[in-house]
Amino acid sequence: MNVLEIRDLGVDYLSGSGTVHAVTGVSLDLRRGEILGLAGESGSGKSTLAGAVARLLRPPAAITSGSVVYHRQDGTAVDVLTLQKNELRAFRWKELAVVFQSAMNSLNPVGTVGAQIDDVLRAHAPRMSRDERAERTAELLRRVGISADRRRSYPHELSGGMRQRAAIAIALALNPEVIIMDEPTTALDVVVQRDILHEIRALREEYGFAVVFITHDLSLLMEISDRIAIMYAGRVVEIGTARGLHEGARHPYTVGLLRSFPRLHGPREELLGIPGTPPDLRSPPPGCAFHPRCGVSVAACSSVVPVLGDGVACLLNDGTGVS
Ligand code: ADP
Ligand code: MG
Repeated sequence: MNVLEIRDLGVDYLSGSGTVHAVTGVSLDLRRGEILGLAGESGSGKSTLAGAVARLLRPPAAITSGSVVYHRQDGTAVDVLTLQKNELRAFRWKELAVVFQSAMNSLNPVGTVGAQIDDVLRAHAPRMSRDERAERTAELLRRVGISADRRRSYPHELSGGMRQRAAIAIALALNPEVIIMDEPTTALDVVVQRDILHEIRALREEYGFAVVFITHDLSLLMEISDRIAIMYAGRVVEIGTARGLHEGARHPYTVGLLRSFPRLHGPREELLGIPGTPPDLRSPPPGCAFHPRCGVSVAACSSVVPVLGDGVACLLNDGTGVS
């Protein structure tokens, strides 16, 4: 059962120096209650994809193709890309919530954590009484591992990890079916990151929401995801179960990602294990966008765009797999 079905999604950024093809022909399903990891180097289109699905993109972003069908629990469905402003208000928070990279950007610096949860409840659940909202706020904070008396704290009074937990509590406020987390823990130290990720998994068991979890850290995704999609240059190049990818990644880019870790010094995007840098999305390489960096490419790779058949978009890999 899918809760979201993304089909042939395309997003461009229109700028003076050329059109950036940030997302191209992406088709992806999110199953009800699953944790879907989305990985890929910085600039591969992960945030743009998330922004399109959450309808948070602003000009110069323009959706150039596709649909994002959301299936409600009552069996009805709607294309998120066609929602009007008033419908969008109901869709956000209640059906789909987003937690951003920096909790400081998700939280309002001048409001207490409690007031911010209360704001969401008041705006979207008008039938709740003040007492019910206070009760729900305390419960939400407890659920994400923050003591209820912290509701009176301002974001700057909390640690990075606590702020991230508070942002997750807000996202959970209205029991959404889908939560999109865009690098929610990237700024945190590894131990805090792991704690929060395991907390998200536990909450998912309890509430049953589906998660799209975005990060460039593939090893972290392996730990918490049910399935993982790999993006390169605006396209999904491989998708599979976390276990399947761990045991046998098929796209040469995925294989490289799994072998690499970011350099501590030198260009930020250069990964040990994958030579070169991601392409300029104003003029991506013809054929498979990865072919200039690929160690096993053949002549056809520079002219034929591989399709995502059977979980992998690679000419050398159509069902057979490279070694
Ligand atoms: P990721 O989240 O994987 O790092 P993004 O979705 O942020 O990738 O970016 C995808 C591409 O779109 C990149 O080439 C980036 O430079 C470009 N891009 C993102 N935002 C804008 C913008 N506002 N204007 C122009 N280009 C943008
Ligand atoms: Mg991003």
